Amino acid sequence: MGGRPAAKSGMGKAANDGANKTQLDKSHAEPEPLSLAKPTETLNLRKSWTIEDSEELYRIQGWGEPYFSINAAGHITVSPKGDRGGSLDLFELVTALKLRNLGLPLLIRFSDILEDRIERLNAAFGRAIARYNYPGTYRGVFPVKCNQQRHLVESLVKFGKPHQFGLEAGSKPELMIALATLDTPGALLICNGYKDREYIETAILAQRLGQTPIIVLEQVEEVALAIAAGRKLGIQPILGVRAKLSAKGIGRWGSSAGDRAKFGLTIPEILHAVEQLKAADMLGSLQLLHFHIGSQISSINVVKDAIREASQIYVELAQLGADMKYIDVGGGLGVDYDGSKTNFYASKNYNMQNYANDVVAEIKETCAERNLPVPTIVSESGRAIASHQSVLVFDVLGTSEPPSETPEPAREDEHLIIRNLYDTYSAITAENYQEAYHDATQFKEEAVSLFGFGYVSLTERARAERLYWACCEKILEVARQQDYVPDDLEDLEKIMASIYYINLSVFQSAPDSWAIDQLFPIMPIHRLNEEPTRRATLADLTCDSDGKIDQFIDLRDVKSVLELHALKSEEPYYLAMFLGGAYQEIMGNLHNLFGDTNAVHISLTPKGYRIEHVVKGDTMHEVLGYVQYDAEDLIENIRQQTEHALQEKRITLAESQLLLQNYERSLSGYTYLSS
Ligand SMILES: *Cc1c(COP(=O)(O)O)cnc(C)c1O
Repeated sequence: MGGRPAAKSGMGKAANDGANKTQLDKSHAEPEPLSLAKPTETLNLRKSWTIEDSEELYRIQGWGEPYFSINAAGHITVSPKGDRGGSLDLFELVTALKLRNLGLPLLIRFSDILEDRIERLNAAFGRAIARYNYPGTYRGVFPVKCNQQRHLVESLVKFGKPHQFGLEAGSKPELMIALATLDTPGALLICNGYKDREYIETAILAQRLGQTPIIVLEQVEEVALAIAAGRKLGIQPILGVRAKLSAKGIGRWGSSAGDRAKFGLTIPEILHAVEQLKAADMLGSLQLLHFHIGSQISSINVVKDAIREASQIYVELAQLGADMKYIDVGGGLGVDYDGSKTNFYASKNYNMQNYANDVVAEIKETCAERNLPVPTIVSESGRAIASHQSVLVFDVLGTSEPPSETPEPAREDEHLIIRNLYDTYSAITAENYQEAYHDATQFKEEAVSLFGFGYVSLTERARAERLYWACCEKILEVARQQDYVPDDLEDLEKIMASIYYINLSVFQSAPDSWAIDQLFPIMPIHRLNEEPTRRATLADLTCDSDGKIDQFIDLRDVKSVLELHALKSEEPYYLAMFLGGAYQEIMGNLHNLFGDTNAVHISLTPKGYRIEHVVKGDTMHEVLGYVQYDAEDLIENIRQQTEHALQEKRITLAESQLLLQNYERSLSGYTYLSS
C-alpha cells in the first residue's frame, strides 16, 4: 500500500509486543544492520523503472539475502552458496527445466543453500562459544518433521558431518527415517514425541549400532516405560526430559509452552521422574534437559526468558544427582519472511548470531554461578535451516481486470442518478476524493434500489455501474498519490485489484498461507526491469474460495495486493514463492486432487549447475489411487460407455477414440494445467 503510516490498530507490527521497527536487543549482540529500505513508494510513472525499484518494491534484500537478488536482465539470481560465490539465473533455469519436460508448478531445491544454512548455524554457535569462552560444544540436530523428503534429509546428514549434526524425530515414522539415515559418528539422535514400548526399545537398541539416541521423556508414563525397557534389554538408556517452562512463547505457537502445554513435564512431574529413576538406580541415565517454546519466535526477549528458566532447571537437576551433559533449546529460531527485522509475526527482531550469543551466554552464566561444568548445547532449528532452500515457481494462466473506461458525459435527458454519478466523477480531486468515494457508493446503491422498484431500466443500471467503476478508478489513482491511503479506502484497493489466476493449489503448496495466514514472499522472477503496472490478488486452481492469496509482505503491516506486470500475449509470466522449504510440503493436501508438484534438486558446479534428482509430481493415476480409484477400472468404465454410445450411434468411432486417448493420457499426466 502506498506509504501508509505504521500504526494500524489491532494488528500492526507496531502493536505486536510493543516493539518498533528498529528495536534490537543489544545485550550480547552484534546488532543486525539496520535496514535502510524506504517504505514502498507510490509507483512513479515518470521516471523509467529500474531493477533497484523492483528490489525496493519486493523487499528482496530484506528477506532474500544472501541467496536471492535481481540481475541486470531483470531476472532473479540465486546464489546458493551465499557469500561464497557462484550464482545462476532463475528464469533461465526454469526455461531449461521446462525444455526437459519438467512442467510448472515446479519446486526447485537448492542443496547448496541447505549446506550454507547448516554452515551458518554452526558458525554462529562457534563464534558465540569463542566469544564467551564457553568451555563446551554445540551439537545441532535437524527436526525431521520440518521436511522429511528423503533427498533433503540425506543431504542434510551429509552436509552436517563436519559438525556432527544430528537428527530429531518427533514420531515413530520419523524415528525410522532418522535411524536409517544418520550415520555420523557422535551425532545425536534426539527422540521426541509420543512413545510406546516399541519406540523406546528401538531407540535404546540403536546404541548397539553406534548411534547416540537420547530418549526425551515428554509424558509421565514414558518414565516407567523407559525404566522397564532399559532393564529388559540390559542397556542403560540415555534419557532427557522435556520441561514445560512457564516462560511463554508468543504468537501463533505460544501455547507450546506453559503449564497446560501439550508436551513436556511440569516441575513436580520432573521431580517425580527423578525419584522414579533414582529408585530404579538409573538417575545416571538422565543427561539432557529439553524445552521447545514454539516455532517462529519473533522476539529475542522471549528466547532469553526461556533459556534463563531452562538453565536454572538444568543446574538443579545436576545438583539432584542426574548426570547432566546436554541442554537442548528446541526450535523457534525465526525466519524473516517480510524482511522487516521486527517482532511482527512474519519477522524476527534478532539474527542467528544474536540467538546463538544469548543461548551460550545465559547457559554459561548460570553454570558459572553454581560452579558446574557447562553442557553440550543442542538446538533443533528446523525452519531456520530448511526454509530458504526451496523455491516454488508457477505460471499465471490468465487475469481478470477491473473494468476501466473513460465514461461519456451524462446528457441532460439522462436519469438524475446518472447525472449525479457523472458529476461526482468529473469533480474528483485530491481534496475531495474521500468524500467522492462515499458519494459514488451511495449513488450506485440508490441506482440499484431504484432499479428494484422499476424506476431505472437495465440499460440505465448498467450505465450507473460503469460510472461507479470509473469513479473508483479515478479516486484510487488520486489516493495513491497521497502520502497515505485512508483506512476507509482500503477496500477500494481490493475491489479494484486485478485477479491473477495461478497454476497452483494453495492447499497443496502453501498450506500455511491458507490455514494460519502465514506470509511468504512472492514475486515475479523476470521482467523486473519493467514497471509492474497491475495490482493483483492471486487465485489458485481449486474450486474453493479460500484458494487465494491476498496478503503480501510489506515493510509496514501486510498489503492486500501485489504489484505485477500486465501479461504479454504469447509470453509466459512466472512467479515464485520463496522461503517455503519448511513444513509446507508435508502439510499440503490433495484438495480438488491437485497432487505433489514436480521437484528438482539443483547443485552448483564450477561450470553452472547439475540436476541431482528429479522427483516427478503426482500423476492423476496416483492421486486417484489415494482415494481408492483404480485407473484400469476407470478406463474400462469409459470404454464401455463409448461402446454403448457407438451402438446407439451417439458418437463416431473417431470421437470415441479421441475421448479414450485423452482420458488415458490424462490419467498418466500431471494434475496441474500445462502451458
Ligand atoms: C517443531 C519442532 C521443532 C522445530 O521448530 P522450528 O521452529 O521449526 O525450528 C523443534 N523441536 C520440537 C520439539 C518441535 O516440535
